Amino acid sequence: MTNIENTQEVLIVGAGPVGLVCALGLAQAGLKCTVIDEVPGVVHSPRAIVYHWSVLAGLDRLGILNQAIARGFCKTDYSYKVHKSGETISWDIGALKGHVEFPFNIHLPQNILAEIILEELKNYPDVSVDWETGFVGLEQDGDGVTVNAKKPDGSEITYKADWVIGADGARSPVRHALGLPFDGTTWEHRFVATNIRADLEPLGYARSVMLIDDVYGAVVVKINNDNLWRCTFAEKADLPEESVLERIPEMFANIIPEMGDDYELVQYSPYRMHQRAASSFRKGRVMLAGDAAHSTNPTGGLGLTSGLFDSYILYEALAAIIKGQENESILDKYSDERRRIFLETTSPRAIENCNFLYHSGDLEVLEKNLQNLRRMANDEPFMLEKTLFTMSMETPSLITGLRTNEGVKIA
Ligand SMILES: Cc1cc2nc3c(=O)[nH]c(=O)nc-3n(C[C@H](O)[C@H](O)[C@H](O)COP(=O)(O)OP(=O)(O)OC[C@H]3O[C@@H](n4cnc5c(N)ncnc54)[C@H](O)[C@@H]3O)c2cc1C
Repeated sequence: MTNIENTQEVLIVGAGPVGLVCALGLAQAGLKCTVIDEVPGVVHSPRAIVYHWSVLAGLDRLGILNQAIARGFCKTDYSYKVHKSGETISWDIGALKGHVEFPFNIHLPQNILAEIILEELKNYPDVSVDWETGFVGLEQDGDGVTVNAKKPDGSEITYKADWVIGADGARSPVRHALGLPFDGTTWEHRFVATNIRADLEPLGYARSVMLIDDVYGAVVVKINNDNLWRCTFAEKADLPEESVLERIPEMFANIIPEMGDDYELVQYSPYRMHQRAASSFRKGRVMLAGDAAHSTNPTGGLGLTSGLFDSYILYEALAAIIKGQENESILDKYSDERRRIFLETTSPRAIENCNFLYHSGDLEVLEKNLQNLRRMANDEPFMLEKTLFTMSMETPSLITGLRTNEGVKIA
């Protein structure tokens, strides 16, 4: 049996952080929208933790920054360690104080950000989140979009919407339904993200440690104040995925030797990484955002950062179009600009980050990169200039032309 749902102004496919930020922005603009997600609730697998200083003004505009800070923590210290030599290079982005409104990063698991937004959405009766509702297909014409979805019991639901946002992750069934290619590359090696409970700060660990090595390269990051840490490492993809768990203790013994056996493995997740972008982030009345539009390796935490910058301008643009204040042609600008920034700025930097940490076999390149890091540790203006990088991943508002961090100069 097929149920026909009421007409929505916007239907969002995917209740990940990007879909939910769009929903909250649209809700606050007074619009009616529905979010559907195929899973029963927020996904808890180990994913984004770090919110760079540059995305915080956008969270503040949505009224959720204080809760994000309360449920996570603010952090300014960074440390890079060369595995083979033991050289450690550290700096503190607290020097952003006086230059930007929020001079710190936040560490917060993305599932907690999703929970904060879901709580907030309860204040908006015109917004609903339909779990266990998997997108199946869509049809569109000049008047709107018809979306077909399925429940676990096989029953079908049809939604009618004026606009659709596909925020359904890197595999994006919405992108497939639109027939948009997702060109790019897949990294050869496998990444393994682990969440562990351990007390690493007394062992001398900064709350973000990047370990540089062609075998034991890793990111070790504190997740919360309950001593939960993320350790992500890489391994050859031809090693069997089924036995990842058996290899974890040996990797930890090399990556965090000071820890010994004094840890609890809470979660782990092997995954492949891509550098890919959809050929367009808009087709008619359907827009792609977040990982559905672009996928990057997460070294340096640029994945969700880009997705948040997509959502900040997309919900604002859609709200203005629906209210008759703007022409829908600004959505082409959304597509062109977000895609251009991903291909020209975000993806190249994420590739650099990944090669630096995990493929540092070329000693000449390594030394050049280390010189940059040493300078960051000793030359504050240089460090500040480098720290402003993530702001260049933002597209200014399509309505006002302003950035969420207006007034900060990009080097
Ligand atoms: C180990 C790891 C660490 C990371 N760390 C960082 C970091 O520190 N900082 C950072 O910026 N980025 C990081 N990232 C990247 C970040 O996790 C992603 O960019 C982010 O999850 C993208 O959010 P999204 O909402 O676009 O997609 P997703 O989080 O993938 O959400 C997509 C949603 O769509 C739903 N969906 C899928 N198919 C359907 C369907 N057919 N019907 C309905 N719903 C569907 C899914 O269930 C899911 O809820 C990391 C990634 C990994 C893997």
